[in-house]
Amino acid sequence: MLEQLEKIEQDALSALEMMDDQEALESWRVAYLGRSSPLMAVFDQLGQLPKDERPAIGRRANQVKQSLELKLDEKTEKLKQVELRRALETERLDITLPGRAVSLGRLHPITKTLRKVYQIFAEMGFQVYLSRDVETDEYNFQLLNFPPHHPAREMQDSFYIEGEFEEDNPLLLRTHTSPGQIRAMREYSAANPQDPPPVRIILPGMCYRHEQVTARAESQFTQVEGLAVGKTITFSDLKGTLSDFNKRMFGENVRSRFRASYFPFTEPSAEVDIECFVCGGEGCPVCKRTGWLEILGCGMVHPIVLQNGGYDPSIYTGFAFGLGPERITMLCYRIEDIRYFWANDIRFLEQF
Ligand SMILES: [Zn+2]
Repeated sequence: MLEQLEKIEQDALSALEMMDDQEALESWRVAYLGRSSPLMAVFDQLGQLPKDERPAIGRRANQVKQSLELKLDEKTEKLKQVELRRALETERLDITLPGRAVSLGRLHPITKTLRKVYQIFAEMGFQVYLSRDVETDEYNFQLLNFPPHHPAREMQDSFYIEGEFEEDNPLLLRTHTSPGQIRAMREYSAANPQDPPPVRIILPGMCYRHEQVTARAESQFTQVEGLAVGKTITFSDLKGTLSDFNKRMFGENVRSRFRASYFPFTEPSAEVDIECFVCGGEGCPVCKRTGWLEILGCGMVHPIVLQNGGYDPSIYTGFAFGLGPERITMLCYRIEDIRYFWANDIRFLEQF
């Protein structure tokens, strides 16, 4: 029976040499290792052998089985390599095919405007100060000198956040970037309460108002706030800074105009117009025939606001301004509808 095993192994190994694809290997496995193979017949007969022959035959039969399985694995692996090499050799590489274009994203038009604004103010020495989107009523209104029954505080104008808060100080989504003024001044003045350092910052960010969404009003929009506080700051510093900004933003020859206005947190307050860059001041549909475009609001920081920020209004003065990147972008690109900006319509965004 040992000779028989020897012959089974020899036959199997020489047959294995001939197999040259995966299918042939499978039929070889069935023939030599399968249920009705001669090798399995040997295992079946073990029980009928004389007791003293059984261990040697059994051991040998197991060796043969393991050896055949090992050789089968080796051959399978070898064939895989051969097939892979054959596939690589027959595959043609056409180096004249044009490359596949990489699809590049692009910057949102508001991001482009914001970056230009940052750059201009950076050149004038303003740092970017980021403040929070979720504010308390105290920071969003009270500390900014909003009278208790100011219309902007009405429920329809603000997104309030539900929860357990102090009765007169609920949380809300900021309706403007101005609460950042208080946060920044308090942070600066906390460093040295006796002699707070000067402030020169811009505060960009998203603002939220519970408003009817129309072509001219969105419930979310960006704002860039500016704040300069120091011991010798005057209204002419404000005029100089903003006139210079307008020139750098809209063109060297653009003229600026300051109109008296009202904001609770500045006194005096002004609106700033630039000469219409579409018609050069002649009057056109973009400037509604006035020759001027309203660009931003500004003013000298109200003494109460300075006080709330930790700056003594008998020593310090400051100016603040706020501009709307959506408005500027709409004017520059002649965009008629503010809803395009946050509608995520790729046909709109692709144009920038
Ligand atoms: Zn015009």
